[in-house]
Amino acid sequence: MAQIDVDVLIRWIQRSAEVIAENREYLTDLDAAIGDADHGGNMTRGTKAASDKLAQTPPATIGEFGKTVGMTLVSTVGGASGPLFGTFFMRLGQDAGDADSLDVAGLAKALRAGYEGVVARGKAEPGDKTMLDAWEPALKALDEAAASGADAADALAKAADAADAGRDATKELVAKKGRASYLGERAVGHIDPGAASTALLVRALADELKAAA
Ligand code: ADP
Ligand code: MG
Repeated sequence: MAQIDVDVLIRWIQRSAEVIAENREYLTDLDAAIGDADHGGNMTRGTKAASDKLAQTPPATIGEFGKTVGMTLVSTVGGASGPLFGTFFMRLGQDAGDADSLDVAGLAKALRAGYEGVVARGKAEPGDKTMLDAWEPALKALDEAAASGADAADALAKAADAADAGRDATKELVAKKGRASYLGERAVGHIDPGAASTALLVRALADELKAAA
């Protein structure tokens, strides 16, 4: 598939809502270990609300898509992660603007704009045991795959594998940001919940692109 259109992105969020709901307990358990046990509930509520909103008022452009998803996540997820995931989608939308489809390089660029928004807002960096530790390797793998001429489905499958590896690597890290940072060394041995939900979102996009190919 040469172009990724807004309908595919809408289905990405619908799929994400399903997958996050299926993993609600897993995400809650991760957050119970090093946070306050609300991440599964926060993300289930937010992705369902975003999916419902997209169904009610389908966006015509990727800019509108990002704005709808971002604003809905900000107002429904709560916690530290709501404004961060919200910023991710709002910046993604701003980068894509009036486009109603993107090629894989354009998608990689829009996702990176989202990532940069999260960095600017949360002031964390890779290695701090946050969602950035899944986003950053995913986007790097996506850039590499796009540069080598991979199609969108293959490129996103590589990105999803990298996000999974990034998620798993958070286990060994000491948290420098967010609630888990209060635990110091005691956070070691536990996967970061936001990295785990990020890996699910990236996998949902890969699976949606595979289904659309
Ligand atoms: P809260 O910590 O307020 O309960 P959540 O449980 O919904 O919020 O989300 C926690 C996740 O948010 C963490 O696992 C981490 O991935 C992410 N997070 C927290 N602070 C930051 C930050 N400054 N930058 C990036 N991600 C962050
Ligand atoms: Mg929490």
